[in-house]
Amino acid sequence: MIDPLGRHITYLRVSVTDRCDFRCVYCMAEDMTFLPKSDVLTIEELDRLCSAFVAKGVRKIRLTGGEPLVRRGVMELITSLGRHLKSGDLKELTLTTNGSQLERHAAQLAENGIKRLNVSIDTLDSEKFEEITRGGKLDQVKAGLEAATKAGLAIKINTVVVKNFNEDQFSRLVGWCGDKGYDITFIETMPLGDIGGDRTTQYLPVSEVRKSLETDWTITDCDHNTGGPSRYTEVAETGRRIGFISPLSHNFCETCNRIRVTCTGKLFMCLGQDDDADLRAPLRASEGDELLNAAIDEAIGRKPKSHEFVIEPGHGGPALSRHMSMTGG
Ligand code: SAM
Ligand code: SF4
Repeated sequence: MIDPLGRHITYLRVSVTDRCDFRCVYCMAEDMTFLPKSDVLTIEELDRLCSAFVAKGVRKIRLTGGEPLVRRGVMELITSLGRHLKSGDLKELTLTTNGSQLERHAAQLAENGIKRLNVSIDTLDSEKFEEITRGGKLDQVKAGLEAATKAGLAIKINTVVVKNFNEDQFSRLVGWCGDKGYDITFIETMPLGDIGGDRTTQYLPVSEVRKSLETDWTITDCDHNTGGPSRYTEVAETGRRIGFISPLSHNFCETCNRIRVTCTGKLFMCLGQDDDADLRAPLRASEGDELLNAAIDEAIGRKPKSHEFVIEPGHGGPALSRHMSMTGG
């Protein structure tokens, strides 16, 4: 798949559910309405969809959500997609998770060919963790991380930077990740979905995070690239990497190789644009993949040059009405 700007599309992120056992303040409103189950693709349909993309040249799939590990049948999907890893058609299958269910799933994830995971933690203070996730238990996530390491999975921590909330945690998180052998990525808040509040109060650029970390750590740029939007640096004292994702700058659009599918089969060609293509109708219309492939080709032909996010005073509402839990991180 090559888009009109000549970008090769090789990375698919699949949101396998819009549901979650947390309600992070930057991601969801407290009283979210979730999709009716009949709208959501079955595990077999998700498998067929992912496999069609692999046949079209996708080499990396990230399962996300909502919380992927609360989706019933997700392990069957992972086991089934493992066949593409075995054949070599797929180079990597991975997951972004909040870690709450990781303890019981870690070993099986590793058995199915998953090598690394992104796990989201914004603070190491249990009370503040419960506050920002609206009910999450940090100890449960930590137990999941231990199980993952024991199973041989590499871990990258995702930390969303929330102004006036977790500034005091950045340096502590870098030290903790160094001790545990994890990499970490700091992510700016993106204006996706109504969260029942003004986002301008949450926004802090990652450039500020880097500046504050430099008082405690020796940080140098490095050319590590995972095919994602992160700019990586190395910490001399720990030997681990820190990534910085600044979605409000356009620095990662030129080389964007990513597309996203929601759990209802909507294909988003850009995380930061409203345009989408319905793949559920062609998927359900016939057993063969011709209609599906035609819909995918047509959509790739419309992949936009870049997103149009803004977070400025006076623009505190969402730039896009859908939540992050719909398209995944
Ligand atoms: N539930 C899983 C988790 O939290 O890791 C996977 C889905 S979550 C939507 C994926 C990533 O997006 C998480 O790292 C989360 O912190 C991040 N995220 C959610 N809402 C965001 C927002 N508005 N801006 C920036 N990152 C966000
Ligand atoms: Fe759930 Fe992940 Fe969104 Fe938090 S960021 S509410 S864990 S989907």
